[in-house]
Amino acid sequence: MKNDLKSILFKEEQIKQRVIELGDIITKDYQGKKPIVLGVLKGCVLFFSDLVKKIDTPLNIDFIVLSSYGNATVSSGSVKIVKDCEQDVSGREVLIVDDIMDSGKTGLFLKDLLLKRGAKTVKFCTLLNKQSRRVCGISADYYGFDVGDEFVVGYGLDYCEMYRNLPYIAVLNEDKYR
Ligand code: IMP
Ligand code: MG
Repeated sequence: MKNDLKSILFKEEQIKQRVIELGDIITKDYQGKKPIVLGVLKGCVLFFSDLVKKIDTPLNIDFIVLSSYGNATVSSGSVKIVKDCEQDVSGREVLIVDDIMDSGKTGLFLKDLLLKRGAKTVKFCTLLNKQSRRVCGISADYYGFDVGDEFVVGYGLDYCEMYRNLPYIAVLNEDKYR
């Protein structure tokens, strides 16, 4: 697997530190609000489980499965619900946790959906922010690190359903997908 990677962007220890910082900020912002922390599967899974352990306030967790990429490295642009969340979001503060905000289409889709369902507030927390590719007027309320216009894998992020189990974030060699 390592031969498929160009470089390591964020090491395990760096991610761990940043997750602690994000958890502290979110803990302060959500005191007494009992948020629903909503993970976007499958990319969120490693980040989500590390992050919620660092949020020290009562909360509920839930998950939604979305698809937009198929097996490509560029978003198809149409987001679909593969499996919906279970909690009633009406009147609730929802914090969405995703792996990366790229075009912002997934984010916009989810924000619209949850607000239509009556959520009181909807905020976003992503591990990575790929600002240069944003096409929607949306930004992450909390994020771990900025990344450039490169395809990254690891710590939940995949290419063709591979590399999610890497404990670090790496840039994928272009010859793996070009
Ligand atoms: P958006 O809708 O374009 O913001 O895309 C969000 C989703 O695209 C993320 O949740 C990821 O699953 C996927 N994605 C975007 N960029 C990358 C990347 O560099 N590596 C792996 N997945 C990515
Ligand atoms: Mg993905």
